[in-house]
Amino acid sequence: MAKDLKMGTLCVQAGWSPKKGEPRALPIYQSTTFKYETSEQMARLFDLEDSGYFYSRLQNPTVDAVGAKIATLEGGIAAVMTASGQAANFYAIFNICQSGDHFVSTTTIYGGTYNLFSVTMKKLGIEVTFVDADAPAEEIEKAFRPNTKALFGETISNPSVNVLDIEKFAAIAHKHGVPLIIDNTFATPMNCRPFEWGADIVTHSTTKYMDGHAVAVGGAVVDSGNFDWEAYHDKFKGLTEPDDSYHGLTYTKAFGKAAYITKMVAQLMRDLGSMMAPENAFLLNLGLETLHLRMKRHCDNAQKIAEYLQNHPKVAWVNYCGLPDSKYYDLANKYLPNGACGVMAFGVKGTKEDAIRFMDSLELISIVTHVADARSCILHPASHTHRQLSNEQLIEAGVAPDLMRLSVGIEDVEDLIADLEQALQLI
Ligand SMILES: *Cc1c(COP(=O)(O)O)cnc(C)c1O
Repeated sequence: MAKDLKMGTLCVQAGWSPKKGEPRALPIYQSTTFKYETSEQMARLFDLEDSGYFYSRLQNPTVDAVGAKIATLEGGIAAVMTASGQAANFYAIFNICQSGDHFVSTTTIYGGTYNLFSVTMKKLGIEVTFVDADAPAEEIEKAFRPNTKALFGETISNPSVNVLDIEKFAAIAHKHGVPLIIDNTFATPMNCRPFEWGADIVTHSTTKYMDGHAVAVGGAVVDSGNFDWEAYHDKFKGLTEPDDSYHGLTYTKAFGKAAYITKMVAQLMRDLGSMMAPENAFLLNLGLETLHLRMKRHCDNAQKIAEYLQNHPKVAWVNYCGLPDSKYYDLANKYLPNGACGVMAFGVKGTKEDAIRFMDSLELISIVTHVADARSCILHPASHTHRQLSNEQLIEAGVAPDLMRLSVGIEDVEDLIADLEQALQLI
């Protein structure tokens, strides 16, 4: 494909370039296996000496086309598509951390990721230290240890919608010789490309805006190819020393910039198998074809609704980084100049019962455990997604007990405001 294409063109066309007589739309390769002519050809694939499809747990053409599109949108060299965002974040860390290792994460992350890091990874012998993303660099650096292998944060945190100072985080990570891993789910590459600010690895829950229609759970890990693993040879031996399961192949030597992503497929997909299904990849690709149109509409609608809520006498507070009095307004202008996302957090005046009556009275805006799709929806994290967290953990995760997370869809904004208005009148 031509170089320097703009983002909208890439959303529509990247990843699948059919040749003569091939389907114009991305086909679903609904096949677990792929045929070869000789035993030798197959053997070379198993030794990673040749690339090609042989089993859909490792690679599938439909899934790869979508991975290539997402890698292009992010400006990375390659992506691994996973069955879910949870699998993506697990793989991103587990690819470079093993029992006895440690990593650092911001506290303000998605509840599922918080649980993965603090409970499940701990059972695997991998420890995490959570830091306040807004703390000065010197404070955050105190969390680093000799066995620290990564720094993790979300561009826009779910559900507190804080904006991360990615450059500050990249500087901290690189000073300590570890990659910066950024979950870019809420911003999407339409609104922020973390590699341009120094991030090394980007993850996504494609379940959210990328799919955009709430039809397929999925995830992605994208590699910038920029982190120099060999410069910290002893820290990342899984990449820099021979892998016995592939006859002593060394990823950094054999694959250079693609070492991290190749290891992820060759080891983690092979052994853990959280791959994306071809049919889900097809649906995700349809969503991606309109990502540039939808993100703009989500942001325009959200800006208007945030302003409406902020001026409403029954609303106690609104957290949306597009509002000039937001703590994150300046960071949003720097990192998210095209708009942030359609998600905001707010609280209504009154009791918890008032908040529940308000939510129950909404008609167009539905209560669902989802966020970031075409239909507007609302959730009360303290009683839904985050109910396993203690009150202290809630505050640490940036989730006030009265916080409602509103995900503004792409409907006509006048109708959404009318729905909010009738429900607010009942408080
Ligand atoms: C939803 C979400 C995840 C988890 O993704 P799933 O696709 O639900 O597994 C991870 N990170 C963020 C920021 C999310 O919003």
